Amino acid sequence: MHNTKEQDLLNIGIERFIIPAEDVAHVQPDNSLEHALLVLVKSGYTAIPVLTTSYELCGLISKAQILDEILGIERMEPERLSQFLVRDMMTEDVASVVTTSTLERVMTVSINYPFVCVVNENGAFDGIITRSKLLAHLNGYLHEQRRLSNLDSNRDD
Ligand code: AMP
Repeated sequence: MHNTKEQDLLNIGIERFIIPAEDVAHVQPDNSLEHALLVLVKSGYTAIPVLTTSYELCGLISKAQILDEILGIERMEPERLSQFLVRDMMTEDVASVVTTSTLERVMTVSINYPFVCVVNENGAFDGIITRSKLLAHLNGYLHEQRRLSNLDSNRDD
């Protein structure tokens, strides 16, 4: 059973947490693995979304997937980077929510993922929400609640 304060916290909209699409590093399905690895290494991210030119969400690609692909039995095989496209290696099973979801929904989905993709009512990619941003918000909320309850108990003394 949630109390009213928890309800307020969990029912808020998620817009304020979204990193907008234009700020999200991404690749396209027809890019080479070499290009994807460059974007991943230069951006410093572990995984990034795969989007079409019209910003439809197709999947995710990670450094680990690419490195696993070029790791041969006895040596690295970097030549494989130009032999495959992002669409050949990407994961299509993407953690996503819709723009109108509540914070409660995003928190539940993000338990197992470092970031969650946000898709709008037309199916277009709106951006991502990182688990770290959610935790920072929750941390701020809990500290504020503690401060308020300390104020209340000082007033009662
Ligand atoms: P963070 O919580 O900021 O460390 O981000 C967690 C993960 O979310 C990163 O490793 C990336 O996979 C993804 N991510 C965060 N910000 C971006 C961004 N601007 N563009 C693409 N992916 C991002």
